[in-house]
Amino acid sequence: MSSVKMVEAPDGYSGAGFFATSLDEVIGLARSHSLWPLPFATSCCGIEFMATMGSHYDISRFGSERPSFSPRQADLLMVMGTIAKKMAPIVKQVYLQMAEPRWVMAVGACASSGGIFDTYSVLQGIDRIIPVDVYVPGCPPRPEQILEGLMQVQELTRNESLRRRNSDEYQHLLESYKIQ
Ligand code: SF4
Repeated sequence: MSSVKMVEAPDGYSGAGFFATSLDEVIGLARSHSLWPLPFATSCCGIEFMATMGSHYDISRFGSERPSFSPRQADLLMVMGTIAKKMAPIVKQVYLQMAEPRWVMAVGACASSGGIFDTYSVLQGIDRIIPVDVYVPGCPPRPEQILEGLMQVQELTRNESLRRRNSDEYQHLLESYKIQ
C-alpha cells in the first residue's frame, strides 16, 4: 500500500485557465534567462558592451553570454552606436531575419536618438525603422546601465503573453513599420 498521501491543491492553484496561465509563466521565465543577444555594434557604445561581456560585469549571470552573429539564432537585437542612414536598411534586414519572439534594445544616445550627431547622414534613432522595446540612455552608457537595460528586457520577456505576437495590436505595430 502506498504511503503517499494526496492532498487538495491550495486555493488559486487549480481550475479553468490555470494550466494556460502557468505555461505562460514557465515559458516567460525560461525565455527571460536565456536571451541570446545579437550585438550590432558600430562605434564607442560597442566598447561598453565588450566590458559588459567581460568577467567583471559578467553578462553570463543573466544567461546572455552567448552572442549570436546569426540573426536566426538571436532573440535580442542590441544596437550600439551611431547608425548612418546608409546602414539603416542593414539593421532592418537583420531584424527581419530574426525569428519571433524578438526584442530590441537601443543602447546609448546614438542608437536611441542620433545622439550628438544631429546631421543629414545619421539616423535619428533606430525606432525610425524598427520597433524598440528598451532604450538605454548615456553617451556612452556604463556597463551597469546596459545590464539594467537587459534586466528591463527580461522583465518584458517574463511577463509577455504567449498570444501577444498574434494580437492585432502587435500586427498594427509591425504594419506601422511596413513589416508584414
Ligand atoms: S552614444 Fe556616445 S558613446 Fe555611444 S556611440 Fe554615440 S557617441 Fe559613441
